[in-house]
Amino acid sequence: MTDLSYDTLLARREGLVRDLPPGGNEDLRWVMNSATLILGERDAVLVDTFTTIEQNERLIDWIRGHERKLTHIYCTHGHGDHIYGIGQLLEAFPGVQAVATAGAVAGARIQAEDDWREGFWGRLFPGQIPVAVVPDELEGDRILLEGHELRVVDTGHTDTEGTSVLWAADAKLVVAGDVVYNHTHMYLAETDPDSRAQWIAALRTIQELGAEHVVAGHKHPDHDDDPSNIQESIAYLLDVEEALSTRASALEFYQAVLARHPRRVNPGSLWGAAKVLKPSA
Ligand SMILES: [Zn+2]
Repeated sequence: MTDLSYDTLLARREGLVRDLPPGGNEDLRWVMNSATLILGERDAVLVDTFTTIEQNERLIDWIRGHERKLTHIYCTHGHGDHIYGIGQLLEAFPGVQAVATAGAVAGARIQAEDDWREGFWGRLFPGQIPVAVVPDELEGDRILLEGHELRVVDTGHTDTEGTSVLWAADAKLVVAGDVVYNHTHMYLAETDPDSRAQWIAALRTIQELGAEHVVAGHKHPDHDDDPSNIQESIAYLLDVEEALSTRASALEFYQAVLARHPRRVNPGSLWGAAKVLKPSA
């Protein structure tokens, strides 16, 4: 068997929460999505797609440049910024299968509805969101790439419901979707105390896989795919829990987490969470 390798493409976009309190972090108000190609000798599997038509066109060109046959697109979870490219990719690569767990398919179905696609994403990125196509449910829990197993690790409710990561043991690679964040504020608006505990447990499960490369769905371009991103994500969630229990208002909570993590990009995500998790203030 030949070795597996991987390559990652990043796409930068504006954050989704744009009414931030004043503060000196204007240069950090953006976020990167990642799409990862796991490469065999002849075939390849893509993990996640991008948000806008233009970003997904760039993704298609980039995949073509790798000169492999794309066999599958695996979606780690159902959020629009990871699944909206499916339709364009299926058209560009006939015969490819777009797959996800049942939980991610359910999430994708919601994000494909007009309320979300046009009402939410379309308002933030007018005229730029592709026609949404929902992935099929993966049968079983693995994808084969030239005889190598890519195993789905179900991570439950992390930054949303129905999330998973893909574990390519032969490459010591975890493609982590939004379970692990790389120098980017974590998306907390869909969490509660139980799901945050579940998220930390999922991060510990991933830690035990012993990966050498951990690709976050949202990563900072200046930082590599070091497994330390798992521990840093756990530390962030513990800091969030502490700030939630000690700070009374949304603004105090926001400032407390920001003080601990001043250089993570996309502070808007934290502000969005602050307003949801501390609604009274
Ligand atoms: Zn995401």
